[in-house]
Amino acid sequence: MRIDTKCIQSGYAPKNGEARILPIYQSTTFKYESTEQMGRLFDLEEDGYFYTRLANPTNDAVAAKIADLEGGVAGMLTSSGQSACFYSIFNICEAGDHFVCSTSIYGGTYNLFSVTMKKLGIDVTFVDPDAPAEEISAAFRPNTKALFGETIANPALVVLDIEKFAKVAHDHGVPLIVDNTFATPINCRPIEWGADIVVHSTTKYMDGHATSVGGAIVDSGNFDWEAHADKFPGLTTPDESYHGVVYTERFGKAAYITKATATLMRDLGSIPSPHNSFLLNLGLETLALRVRKHCENAQKVAEFLSKNDKVSWVSFSGLEGDKYHDLAKKYMPNGSCGVISFGVKGGRESAVKFMDSLKLAAIVTHVADARTSVLHPASHTHRQMNDEELKAAGVTPDLIRFSVGIEDADDIIEDIENALCAAQ
Ligand code: PLP
Repeated sequence: MRIDTKCIQSGYAPKNGEARILPIYQSTTFKYESTEQMGRLFDLEEDGYFYTRLANPTNDAVAAKIADLEGGVAGMLTSSGQSACFYSIFNICEAGDHFVCSTSIYGGTYNLFSVTMKKLGIDVTFVDPDAPAEEISAAFRPNTKALFGETIANPALVVLDIEKFAKVAHDHGVPLIVDNTFATPINCRPIEWGADIVVHSTTKYMDGHATSVGGAIVDSGNFDWEAHADKFPGLTTPDESYHGVVYTERFGKAAYITKATATLMRDLGSIPSPHNSFLLNLGLETLALRVRKHCENAQKVAEFLSKNDKVSWVSFSGLEGDKYHDLAKKYMPNGSCGVISFGVKGGRESAVKFMDSLKLAAIVTHVADARTSVLHPASHTHRQMNDEELKAAGVTPDLIRFSVGIEDADDIIEDIENALCAAQ
């Protein structure tokens, strides 16, 4: 199936007489007639549902759709993008381990990795994603277990050179984990470029209507954990907390995602509600349509901004001459995303006035839904960072993150034009 068809058809295939639309299994638990069968389910010896924290048919169908869209072998849903990012690392790192990460990532992920995970004894080294491979390589240590980056960084809009990152990761015998939230599988499928694990904040374009916070992890099934068995004992040696199962032996290509479900979801429990997954699935059905319209509108808005004398700079990889134009053409030939970063002349003060003068675009802590929205990262999402950290993340004090919706592009442009006049 092609990608537009997968958005509609993947994940749920009703049999004769069954509900046409994915049912919401709003049930914490599932009934069995024999103690023995329930025991086999607990031992992972038989497939089946027994408790929604571990698996639920609605959640599983949506996870399977996202896995199919990304070209992976299996996926799991989480209750937020934050938990997806956390699980993606914590599934293969423990106290004493280390991973390498691009500096240009979402502020919440930066905080999770640099503060909270450090408290768990997992260390991170941040690297400039534009640095040559040798420089990124130099950040690796014998205890390094993963490399992490965002396809299009939020909010700096740095486009990741996925092939470069994949090569460095694989040269060191570790997986590349890519957060593909902004690009979505409609515009880029990182697995096709060498990524091993893909994560999402489904809260953004995938849900698309700002109804449900959620996350997803997709396993490509391509990383050879056994070839680097000494680095990944959690996958390649018996798990005593699960009756001695060896995930790579029992689950092959789905070892990583099965371990994430069987241990992390079991112990930490950030499961989405089946109702939220149902809403996410509705969003996914129109993902391809919406993403194309977001990109088309964003291109028009970016071109308008780039010609406006009240705007000091525009960052959008769809613009000729943008620093990331060539990388975007390679990895996302049909468009990148609907988010634009720009600076208003007059710095932080004018940026705030501009934002307060917008009528159609709303100030919200959100991006990537159907409605045009706007945010000032230095005052909002990235406010925990000092100036040096902001600079490293590519976030200047005047940066406005503008998420172009799917309204009529002319209405969005008129709103911007009026607000720019008011800000001067
Ligand atoms: N990854 C990226 C790229 C994001 O933009 C966000 C949130 O903005 C997250 C992860 C965290 O996702 P959530 O807000 O769903 O927890």
